Amino acid sequence: MNRLESTLDRIDRKGYGAYRDIQGSHDLGLFTLFVDRVQRDPFAPPSLIRVRTKENRFEPSHFKNPVRRMAFEDFLTRRVEQAARSIARGNRGSGGSGRIEIQHPSQVVIPRSSMIVDDGHVEARMAAGLPARGRSVDARAAHEMLLNELPEIVRRAFSPGDVDEDAAREHVETVEDADHLRSLLPSLGLVAFVADGAVLPRESGASDRRLRDRATPFHSPEEFRVSVQLPNRGEISGMGVPEGVTLVAGGGFHGKSTLLSALAWGVYDHVPDDGRELVVTRPDAVKIRAEDGRSVAGVDISAMIGELPGGRSTASFSTPNASGSTSQAANIAEALEVGTSLLLVDEDTSATNFMIRDERMRELVQREPISPFIDLVRPLHRTLGVSTIVVAGGVGDYLDVADRVILMEDYEPCDATDTAREVRGKFPPRAPLSERKEVRSPASRRVDPASIDLRRGKRQRERGKGLHTVELGRERVDLSYLEQLAEAGQTEAIARMIGEFASGKGKCSAPEMAAAALDAAEKDGLGSLGGFRGHPGELSLPRAQEVAAAVNRVRSLDAESGKRA
Ligand code: ADP
Ligand code: MG
Repeated sequence: MNRLESTLDRIDRKGYGAYRDIQGSHDLGLFTLFVDRVQRDPFAPPSLIRVRTKENRFEPSHFKNPVRRMAFEDFLTRRVEQAARSIARGNRGSGGSGRIEIQHPSQVVIPRSSMIVDDGHVEARMAAGLPARGRSVDARAAHEMLLNELPEIVRRAFSPGDVDEDAAREHVETVEDADHLRSLLPSLGLVAFVADGAVLPRESGASDRRLRDRATPFHSPEEFRVSVQLPNRGEISGMGVPEGVTLVAGGGFHGKSTLLSALAWGVYDHVPDDGRELVVTRPDAVKIRAEDGRSVAGVDISAMIGELPGGRSTASFSTPNASGSTSQAANIAEALEVGTSLLLVDEDTSATNFMIRDERMRELVQREPISPFIDLVRPLHRTLGVSTIVVAGGVGDYLDVADRVILMEDYEPCDATDTAREVRGKFPPRAPLSERKEVRSPASRRVDPASIDLRRGKRQRERGKGLHTVELGRERVDLSYLEQLAEAGQTEAIARMIGEFASGKGKCSAPEMAAAALDAAEKDGLGSLGGFRGHPGELSLPRAQEVAAAVNRVRSLDAESGKRA
């Protein structure tokens, strides 16, 4: 009988606190079980456990470089999740009794803290609801769970013989190919690539899986077709979107937004069978939208919006309640501040007065502070090297500024650049362009960590709540409009990064804060974020863009503008 068994025997029917006696490590033959933290009662968040195998007998090529290792860790997390779901009976008494869980991954493949593949072992970080009857220990159920179910889960997920080798190889190779493809973009002069055969539409507005029935696979127009060589799949072809200004036009419901959304997700790698495995964009691409009601702290939007009513300057613009156009301007300024080479803009989610202004309105409204985006989009590329892909089906004005036009018809893209030129000849623009010569990059700001208050009563709080909310002290920061936030583990990581920043003293810009936090995560491991408080196994790596965006949305934030960069 091992120590775990005898301890369980001894504490049966005792008060729930007796479970503390199983804390520590247990040799269970096939693997070592670490019980790191025991929950206070059956209704509290589940206990934290780790499972570590004694050797790593997986095919070494699955983790022979950092990208493959990351992909293989993702693969194993999904294996464990699947196994736990089918093997753990769950519901073994009061509260969360009987649950065995691991971090839930989305469709994207990113570094997570739930799994570590080491040359000598594999380790999964999990959560377990230790079973109780009422509020006392149910040792028989715990025995079932920890000594039968858990080993079965480990066997199924971690024994090379039980793992589908072909699936593992495909997973790793798919991710390696996508990663390589993305890295080729700059040298090809492209900002995005969509492979022939890709499936872009999703199952529904509520599901990020591929649409199964009646999906039209992507087929590149001849004019934009590019062939590239990938390390595993060999040669593939697809649509290359060059740098500059690209307009996606087309009738309503013909797949424009679906294409743009797939490009927005192209900053991440995807699991096999997602449909978008070989749809990639520059890793710093930012989807820009209007977000009225958001707060803005000291952002320089003067390149887009001049003096506001009451002579308010926009070089350091603050408001607790931005309008459609000022929020969109702030989103662009912040994206430029953190660094981006590609803006993705959809008319569906933009403020019309930010996008265009026609002649009549120019005549009627003399005191308009907004330079519409159409006047900025070309200088943005010319002077700052920032490309834009813009979706517009309603207004033809963007034909004047587009380097190329992709027309979507029945989900099929075609090159309409020449036709667009003819159309422009026939119909003069409704408003002459008053294009800027150049666009300045926004002045940098320094954010004051002291303006973020983590206190909540006697305690301190910084945590993610689902995908869209970060709780900092009494404040709930709303991230619903960050369209490139992929999973709750990123939100949790962002919460801890901001928490760490808020506990320090150094003022710095939001991008510097994000860079420092991501460096630390890289150096000390993602699980170390927030000084190992909370569950180390529930974090996913966010991008600097989303970390900075979250800081920028803190309502109490104080930021002073610094020097122009
Ligand atoms: P638009 O932005 O042009 O109005 P959407 O991109 O919103 O159109 O797409 C309209 C609908 O068509 C959505 O329900 C979407 O899922 C579906 N759809 C988009 N692309 C495809 C495709 N390639 N095959 C099948 N359905 C698609
Ligand atoms: Mg649309």
